[in-house]
Order: sequence, then structure tokens, then C-alpha cells
Amino acid sequence: IKGLGKKYESFNDGESQYVLRDINIDVMENEFVCVLGPSGCGKSTLLNLISGYIKPSDGEIDIFGEKVTKASGRAGMVFQEHALMPWLTVKKNIMMGPKLHHKSKEECEKIAKKYIDMVGLGGIEDYYPRQLSGGMAQRVGIARALANEPKIILMDEPLGALDAMTRENMRRELLKIFQKTQITIFFITHSVQEAVYLADRVIVLKNAAVDCDVKIELDRPRDMKSPDFAKYIEYF
Ligand code: ATP
Ligand code: MG
Repeated sequence: IKGLGKKYESFNDGESQYVLRDINIDVMENEFVCVLGPSGCGKSTLLNLISGYIKPSDGEIDIFGEKVTKASGRAGMVFQEHALMPWLTVKKNIMMGPKLHHKSKEECEKIAKKYIDMVGLGGIEDYYPRQLSGGMAQRVGIARALANEPKIILMDEPLGALDAMTRENMRRELLKIFQKTQITIFFITHSVQEAVYLADRVIVLKNAAVDCDVKIELDRPRDMKSPDFAKYIEYF
């Protein structure tokens, strides 16, 4: 991400205002990056720029040496609200990506099964989204993003809508899934605990800029209830 800037028209006076200004981030392959920052600081805007969903005002983004454009679509996206297709079953929702890539029916089924098993959804593949709990639906959203087999996954507060218990379980599962898949991840959260638990690197956005960019040690304590973890958070 090089010299990235984004300005939106202000609703009040029609003047353009920068939401992100001169952002420079170099992300390594397989890095798990958490993005923190106050509401309105431009986190979702950053993800939408990386996905190519919106265009930058300045600068550019390259993914594996290729400039991001609307058509490149190389990143998978998981939204705060799961955004599943209500008229498709769990399995059909997950098969959407592979189908778009013109894979054969057998291949689509095989890929769907792999990710359904990975996120622990076995047995409910023929349910419709309205029959799922929030945590289940979020898992389907994650499986759907993974089934696209993208090199990058962008997650906009994927656990935000879950209760505390489910959220903690999902955190643990996410970590397991991503240790297995070795994918590059951008993950937005409002929780410092969550960021330190999951990430290899934490980026804090503030006043349209990167306020802090910290690598998290690999051998940090992962047990959120341990005093060492608390110390780590405090230190962070
Ligand atoms: P939250 O934590 O609440 O999700 P965020 O960090 O994701 O916030 P963004 O959604 O990126 O914030 O929005 C950043 C700023 O850009 C906000 O002030 C918002 O009002 C403004 N903004 C976002 N989208 C548009 C748009 N399409 N047109 C004009 N302004 C916008
Ligand atoms: Mg947002």
C-alpha cells in the first residue's frame, strides 16, 4: 500500500475531505494484520480500497505485484453482517465462488465440503441462512470467503455481532483455521484483546493516518485469562 489516500465529498459543505492520507503499509505473505482505531477513522474504507470495491484518490495498492483494480478481485471479503444469500443453502452459498471460477460441479462440491468441515459446519449444509444462529452464519461467511481460495482475506469486524462466549470460541477457531490455511489476513476489530490474541501485527489508524504499527511476538501468551496476557495488553 503506497501513498494511499481517499477523500469523500463532505455532506455539509460539498468540500472533499481526506479520510485516509498517505498510508504506507507493506504486508508480508501469510501475515495476520489486525486494524484497530476509533469509529469513523477509515478502517472499512481501507478494506474496500484493498478489495478494489472503491477507488483510491491517491496512491496505489499492489497484491503480489499486481495493481488492484475493480476487476482483479483477488481478495476475499467477510462482512460484519454475514451477507449470505438468503435463497441459497449453506452449501450453495459456499459454492458461489468456485462456481464463478467455472469449476466443474464435482470440484465445487469437493471444495465446499473441505471448507464446511474446516469451519465445523458438517450436518447443516442444507440449511438456509434464516435457520442459522449468528455464530453459524458468520462461519458460513468465513467458509464462503475461504472457498474462493483467495490469497488475501479481508474481514470487517467479523465477530462484532456475536455474544461474548461465541466470540471467544470463534476467535480460537479462526486462529486454528488460519494456521492451517496460511493465508494473508486483514482483520478489523474494536478489541485490543482480540487483536493481540490473533495478530502477527497490529496497525492503529487515527486522524486519517497510521498512528502505530507494531509486530506482535510469535511466542506471546495466547491464554486471554493468564496474567501474562494481561501484562502484554498493558504493554501494548
Ligand atoms: P466503524 O468502526 O464505525 O466501522 P470505520 O473506521 O470503518 O468506522 P469508515 O466506514 O471507513 O470508518 O468511514 C470513515 C469516514 O468516511 C467516516 O467519517 C464516514 O462518514 C466517511 N465515509 C465513509 N463512506 C463514505 C461515503 N461513501 N461518502 C462520504 N463519506 C463516507
Ligand atoms: Mg467500519
